[in-house]
Amino acid sequence: MILSQSLLSNMIIIKDIKNLKDYINQYKSENQSIGLVPTMGALHDGHGALIKSSKEHNQKTIVSIFINPKQFNNKEDLSTYPINKGNDYDYGIANNVDVIFEPDEIEIYPDNFKSTKNIFYNNILCDVHRPHHFNGVITIVSELLKIVSPNKIYFGLKDYQQFKIIEKLIEKEFSQIEIYGIEIVRDENGLAISSRNKLINQPNKELYKYFIKSINQFVLSLSPDTKIKDANQLVEKFLQENSYEIKKFEYNEFRSLEDLSLEGQIKNSRLFLAFYINTTRLIDNIKI
Ligand code: AMP
Repeated sequence: MILSQSLLSNMIIIKDIKNLKDYINQYKSENQSIGLVPTMGALHDGHGALIKSSKEHNQKTIVSIFINPKQFNNKEDLSTYPINKGNDYDYGIANNVDVIFEPDEIEIYPDNFKSTKNIFYNNILCDVHRPHHFNGVITIVSELLKIVSPNKIYFGLKDYQQFKIIEKLIEKEFSQIEIYGIEIVRDENGLAISSRNKLINQPNKELYKYFIKSINQFVLSLSPDTKIKDANQLVEKFLQENSYEIKKFEYNEFRSLEDLSLEGQIKNSRLFLAFYINTTRLIDNIKI
C-alpha cells in the first residue's frame, strides 16, 4: 500500500515491505545508489544532517520511521516517546526525501520472529544501564539492511556506541554496504538536538544548557595528551565539585574513539555522558 504521493513533491510514503521492494528493485535496475537513514521519527535537524549526507552521496534517499519496541527496556519510556507523524512527512518533503518507509510492527516482527543478540562493545556505557537495548538496535538494523539492501547507511555520532556496534555488524555481515557516521548537530544553546528534548521544560533546559557549557569548558582545559584514565579521575572530581542539579549521571567517561577502550590519550577520545534531567534520560558526547 502506498499511502500518498503529494502533488507538490515526489516523496512517497510506503508501509509494506513488498511495495518498498518493488521500488528498490526499480532503483537498482536503473543503477541508482540508495542511501538509508534509519530513524524513530519526530524528525529534526539532527536527522536532517543524515538526510543531507545521503542526498549528497546517493540518487535515492530512504528514511525509515519505526519506533522499535525491542530497543526500549522500559514501557513508560516507549509510551512517552515523541510521535510527530504529519510533521515528519512535511520534514521529509522539505528535505527532498524520496521514500519514507514506515512499517507496522507486525510487518517487521511477524509471529515467531527471532531477535539478534548483540556481541559487540558489550558491558560498557549504555549497555550497562539499558540491558537488551543494543539487542533491539542490532535486530532492527539487521532487518532494515536485509529489506532495503542500501548502498550506504547513515548514523549519528550522538549515539556513538550504537554507531560502533553497527559498524561492526556491517563489517561482519553486510560488508558490501558503506556506513557513515555524521557529527552531532547542536541547537543554538549547544544542546545536542534530540526528540527527547521536547520532554524537558524551560527551567530544566536552562540547567542543561549551563551544564553542557561548563563541561565543554572543563574538557577544553585539559591537555590533549592527558591519559584517558587520568582524565576520567579529573572529570569525576569536576562533577563532584560542581553540583549541576542534573539528577543522575549514569556514566561520564572518556573512551577511545577507535575501540571505546580506556587506553591512550584524550586527543583520540570523546567524553561520553548519560544523565537524567528530571525523568528524561539523555546522552551526549564531547569531541576533543
Ligand atoms: P533516532 O530517531 O533518535 O533513533 O535517531 C536516528 C538517527 O539520527 C540516529 O543515527 C541518531 O544518532 C541520529 N541523530 C539523532 N539526533 C542527532 C543529532 N543531534 N545529531 C546527529 N545525529 C543525530
